[in-house]
Amino acid sequence: MEKPKIYLSSPHLGTREADFVKEAFDTNWVSTVGPNITAFERELAMYNKIDACAALGSGTAAIHLALIVLGVEAGDEVICSSFTFSASCNPIRYQGATPIFVDSEADTYNMDPVLLEEAIADRIKRGKKPKAIILVHLYGMPSKIKEILEVARKYEVPVVEDAAEALGSKYFGQALGTFGDLGIYSFNGNKIITTSGGGALVSRNTAWIEKARFLATQARDAAPHYQHSHIGYNYRLSNILAGIGRGQLLVLDERVAQRRKNYDFYRNAFADRREIQFLSEPQGFYSNRWLTTAVIKGRISREDMRLKLERENIESRPLWKPMHLQPIFEGCPAYTNGTSERLFNEGICLPSGSNMTTEELQRVADVIHSLLSH
Ligand SMILES: *Cc1c(COP(=O)(O)O)cnc(C)c1O
Repeated sequence: MEKPKIYLSSPHLGTREADFVKEAFDTNWVSTVGPNITAFERELAMYNKIDACAALGSGTAAIHLALIVLGVEAGDEVICSSFTFSASCNPIRYQGATPIFVDSEADTYNMDPVLLEEAIADRIKRGKKPKAIILVHLYGMPSKIKEILEVARKYEVPVVEDAAEALGSKYFGQALGTFGDLGIYSFNGNKIITTSGGGALVSRNTAWIEKARFLATQARDAAPHYQHSHIGYNYRLSNILAGIGRGQLLVLDERVAQRRKNYDFYRNAFADRREIQFLSEPQGFYSNRWLTTAVIKGRISREDMRLKLERENIESRPLWKPMHLQPIFEGCPAYTNGTSERLFNEGICLPSGSNMTTEELQRVADVIHSLLSH
């Protein structure tokens, strides 16, 4: 008989979510206004120690609104990490702007600050200063924030932190998403906490967040009838889903601890295997370890491993395919050094759910050990 499936990262609810959702039902606050939304925004802002927060329908919507707030328009250029999920840069296209991709460095897998400076200088030389930088903290690992911000400030380009995968991660004690001009989080089903689907935009600039909320609710001007002087969006999170989010926030630290334990488990399980390399935290970097990633060297390929796990009913996945190699972004300028392409070819995401049991982790490790020993 087939063994039960082990997922890469599945939703993991706590005990309080249903209470908040029930309250929304009982009080008939089931739409896009209500006490759960207000409370979720406040609680999320408090957790991250940031001034203002807008709860939205997705992380993608949050990135889109961040770009609008920063004034990104058709014909503009926006720099984005190449090594990421397409949702990081699709909103650049929604605005009719051009993504400029910047490759990774090997210490964190995130945007290379040296290459970033080269890219900005080159774009300026060619006649256009980038309108914004979308900095992704992949798999929960903080980017080299100090170095990136130094470059951004030198050229006065605003930074949007895509912390969709990095809620609960910290850089020298400060929450990711709070270093840039704006930050975004995602509560999609596979992320560290979920609202089934949802996202948030945060900033120290309260006026920007108010503007984002206005745009997210169809941009209605103050009038008794429907009056519009801006293009609006239907991007608000519902009060029901915000209730799930409130419950999830209560267990976020626990989820981070569980994911970090998964990482420690894998790291220890393969301590004597030079063919499997893990990503360490540089000093002062604290990753939520959303997904444990490994780079596979030697005789067995990443794909051998993924297929072997699949045959054992275990879900794993290659690392993100870089955006500069995606057909849809062919022809977009890219500043590359080969790092993200190598990571894509050699890297694998191991099952990392916070609800995984030790037996399940052991099952994954046993399959990999048996593959490597053959
Ligand atoms: C999940 C994710 C997003 C998008 O979030 P959604 O809530 O799914 O729209 C953006 N960027 C990265 C890096 C992600 O992993």
